[in-house]
This record gives sequence, C-alpha cells and structure tokens, in this order.
Amino acid sequence: MIRAIFTMAVAAFFFGNVTGQNNTSYWQQHVDYTMDIDVDVDKNQYEGEQTIVYTNNSPDALDRVFYHLYFNAFQPGSEMDVRSLTIEDPDKRVGDRISKLSPDEIGYIKPTKLTQDGKKLDFEVVGTVLEVQLNKPILPGEKTTFKMKWDAQIPLQIRRSGRDNAEGVKLSMSQWYPKMAEYDFQGWHADPYIGREFHSPWGDFDVTIHIDKDYTVAGTGYSAENVMGDNNYTKVKKGKKGKRTWHFTAPNVHDFTWAADNEYIHDQYQAANGVTLNFYYKDNPDIKENWKNLQPKTAEMLEYFNENIGPYPFKQYSVIQGGDGGMEYAMCTLITGERKFGSLMGVTAHELAHTWFQFLMATNEGKHEWMDEGFTTYISNLAMAKINGGENLTPQAGAYAGYNYLANSGKEQPQTTHADRYASNRVYGIAAYSKGAVFLSQLEYVIGKENVAKSLKRYYDEWSFKHPTPNDFIRVAEKVSGAELDWYLTDWTQTTNQIDYAIKKIETIKDGTLVVLERIGLIGMPIDLDVTYTDGSKEQFYIPLQMMRSEKPKADTNITRTQLKDWAWAYPTYELVIPSTNKVQSIVIDASMLMADTDRENNVWELE
Ligand SMILES: [Zn+2]
Repeated sequence: MIRAIFTMAVAAFFFGNVTGQNNTSYWQQHVDYTMDIDVDVDKNQYEGEQTIVYTNNSPDALDRVFYHLYFNAFQPGSEMDVRSLTIEDPDKRVGDRISKLSPDEIGYIKPTKLTQDGKKLDFEVVGTVLEVQLNKPILPGEKTTFKMKWDAQIPLQIRRSGRDNAEGVKLSMSQWYPKMAEYDFQGWHADPYIGREFHSPWGDFDVTIHIDKDYTVAGTGYSAENVMGDNNYTKVKKGKKGKRTWHFTAPNVHDFTWAADNEYIHDQYQAANGVTLNFYYKDNPDIKENWKNLQPKTAEMLEYFNENIGPYPFKQYSVIQGGDGGMEYAMCTLITGERKFGSLMGVTAHELAHTWFQFLMATNEGKHEWMDEGFTTYISNLAMAKINGGENLTPQAGAYAGYNYLANSGKEQPQTTHADRYASNRVYGIAAYSKGAVFLSQLEYVIGKENVAKSLKRYYDEWSFKHPTPNDFIRVAEKVSGAELDWYLTDWTQTTNQIDYAIKKIETIKDGTLVVLERIGLIGMPIDLDVTYTDGSKEQFYIPLQMMRSEKPKADTNITRTQLKDWAWAYPTYELVIPSTNKVQSIVIDASMLMADTDRENNVWELE
C-alpha cells in the first residue's frame, strides 16, 4: 500500500501543477532577438542573421520549437492564396493577386543555417511555419541560444507587408523575420499565416539594418533619429559600399516592424510624458497638409488613451506611410497616406489604440480577435468623439448597427471562432470589431459606465506586457464592480444567443399600473425601465438579474430610481406594479440604447 500511496501523491502533485497553470499561476516565455539585416533594394532581397536567447518559463520541457516564416504566404498555391481564392468575399487587396506573382515578385524566407547552443539543428519548412526538432530539450527555467542565417525575398506588397505598395512606398516590413512562435498554457501557437492575426512571445529586440544610403528607415524601437532629446542613441557610422547602417533597440515588445523609403519626410512632435511622435510620409504635395495637421491630433489621442487606459510606456510612436490600410505594430503603425483627413485621423486613432489592446495587453488575436479589435474600436470611438467636439452622444452607434445586422442575418458565428475560420471576412469583421466593441459598451449598461472605466485601468495595471485571456478581463470587471459576470462573458462571446426583452402587457389596476415584461431572447440582462407620466415627470425602475448577485450603481441623474426584486433568468415573464396615482404616458426598456436588444420595437409602450 505504501507504493500506491506514493503513486497517488505523485499524481496529485502533477495534477495540482497542471490545473495550477491553467487557472492561477501565470507564466510567459521570454525571447530576446539580435538581428543583422543586409538589404539589396534593387533585387528586393535581404540576408539576415539572428540570435535568439530563449528562456523557457513554462513548467514543461520543450523538445521542439516553431518559427513563423510569414513571407512564404506570398507564393502561388500557399494556404493564404487558396483561402483568398475560395472564400465568398475575398479581401479586395488580396483577391487572386498571390496566384499571379512571378518568381521575382513572390516572398520567401529560406533558412540556410540553424544552431542551438552552437550545435546544428535539423529543420523543415512547412508553408509559413518552420518546424525544428531540438537536439536537447529546453528544461523548465532554462535558457538556450538559437542562431539562424537566412535569405529572404520581399514580396510585392499584397497584404500588410511587402515592397512597392500602391502609394509607392518602397518597403513595408511587417512580419518579415523568422519569428519564434508562442508557447503558453495552451501549448504551441504555430498557426499558419492564412489571413490575419498574430501572437508571439515578449522580449527585447536589437536590430541592425544596412540599406542604400538614400533610404530613411522608420519603425519599432529607439534610434538616434526617433527619440527627441535623448542622447542614449548614437547615429551608426556609414555602412559598407554605399549603404547606411540603422540601429534600433526595442525593450519588452512582441514584434518588430520597419519601413523604408528614399522619399520619406520625417517630422517630429513632442507629446505628453516626453513621448516623441514621429511621422514619416512621402514627399507629395497632395498629402503634406493632412500629415502636418495629423501631428497635434495624434498627441491629443495619445493623451486620451493615457488618461483613460494607462500611460504609454515607450519613448516614441511612429505613424508611417506604408502597407495597405492601417495596421498596428509595436511603437508604430503602417498606414496608407493618401486619404481624406477624417479617415487619416480615425485610422491613426484606431491603430494607436492598439498599442494598449495588443501591444500591452497582448491577447492571442487568433483565438480572441474581439478582444483586440473590439476593445480598440470601443476606445478609439470614444477618443474620436472627444477630440471631434464631444457632442456625439452615441459614439458606438456604428458598432451596434453592425452587430444588429449580423445577429439578424442568420450568419453569425460565435466570437470563440478562430479568426481564420469564419465563413466569410464580413462575419469575422463584424464579430471582432462591432460585436467586440458592443461587449464593452453594453458592459456599461450591465455594471455602469464608471465601473467599465475603472476596469480598463485595472486591466492595464494587472495585464500590461502579458497575454490576458477573456477570463482575465472579466475577472477584473468582477473585482471592480462586485458583480458576477461569467454569464455575460459566456453568453455574449461563446454563443450566438441574443438579447430581446419586450413589454408584454400594460393594464391599469386599482393600485396603479400593472406591467408585464417578457424575456424573448436567450441572454438574460438586468432591466432599466424608464417611465414617463402624463404630467411630464419621470421615474426609473431597476430590475437586477439574479445571477449577477449585484446591482448596477445608480447613474448620476436627478431622476429617482426604484430597485425592484431580482428577475431570475429562467422565468420568461416578470410582473411589476407602478404604484402611482399619476397616469403613465410611456414606458421604455433601456432608454440608454446600450443594451444590444435585437428587436427594439417591443421595448417601448406609449399611451394612445
Ligand atoms: Zn484594429
């Protein structure tokens, strides 16, 4: 029996460990990069050398690792190509363009040598993923060093990355290097690059780029050129044979992006907290005024996010003309520059906001696309409403309209769908951006505006420079508000259940007005009922949702609010009596319109 007891003790120890990592003891891998890149702008190729120091903070021994080789997606027949050719609503920027790339237009990353602690490793390139079997496992707590050399060709710009974009920017270099995949409590995330979304480990980057001396290089990290009034960064001496050398360091990021052009204008603007804003745009008279006017506005946006989420923790942020739309990266964005001013500003606000909801609170975008896109949409809508005059009382109206369309289309898929595996780009877009923004906006209805504002700040305090999950956010909101919110996270993000409450019946009775409410949709909600009397006076009634085990604080208005007994979810109807001698003129469920009720017509009753 002693042996059996011993075995059980060991089993309990391991089992305890396993459940521990899923639920309570957070850890994350750490990967430091040093890279030296030699660019040939005539051939659109570069040679790379990389040293990665990998620290295994997981409780697991790792016997293999994976790298992303994103440029390999830009080859005829790749998964990205075939997906674009077969999806019902292909992204116009991609369409069939990958299938038509010639050999000198395709992208590739070809590793030529890879070692672990000085010893050669076997590897296999499988599409956009490099599979590497290790000679010796990396044990928990251990560090190991990988060195790689590779040849790369920069694809003609199709999506996000590449050379010669539509506005003539020479190099938009995102997802351009062999990038270590993330290993976390859910295991490896070596997702193939099919359409979108990234997830990678945190680390420090040291990147040296040799490029034709006429080019200006912009991007992630700090250099002598992009941090004002800081002498820590010195210009690198002239490079070899007509080239110039650029050196960047980027502490604690999970990506490194850059762009280069021989016609960039580089402007700088001093923002709050000593942050340098850098603007790089083509020397084109048609866009110059917009790009000048954008500069003080970007400083205002930065200040809004500083105050409403948490301080921007890096020394610089660069708005760079490049890419094919707007895309967020660490300390920078690549954005097409020939747009109307409103669009230039709106997209910059969105991409800058991603600094918080992706480059600080780095959710796994593939699995939880609504957390980065939705939260970013929510906060940048608020920032734009404020900067544009603050008079827009419904900054999230577009998000609600998008969600409502999707919910009534019959095509909705739950937000737990992997970003690459929605049936269409449209369904992905609305689920991630619109329904994701409504998640936060509607949470204002559930726990109150103040509590949502506090939750965002506490989320920043607890989860910056980490990889939070949906549960981590909702736990923060629970702690801030005192409400149980797992029902909200589950129903809203893991199902396509809908909200539909109705006023079923109104009847004048001896003691006042009898009101019967009905829950038609499957999602339960607390109810705000606004009553207006024939004499013009107003009163509010609040019906808590029982499983929330808490009440929303009363909003700061001088209208009286009466709290009624709980409504438990399973009961389809709820009766209340408005005990007034005053005659009721109208009753409205959720006058704030923050609840995403899919049929609002039955929310209102009016005296005939
Ligand atoms: Zn976005």
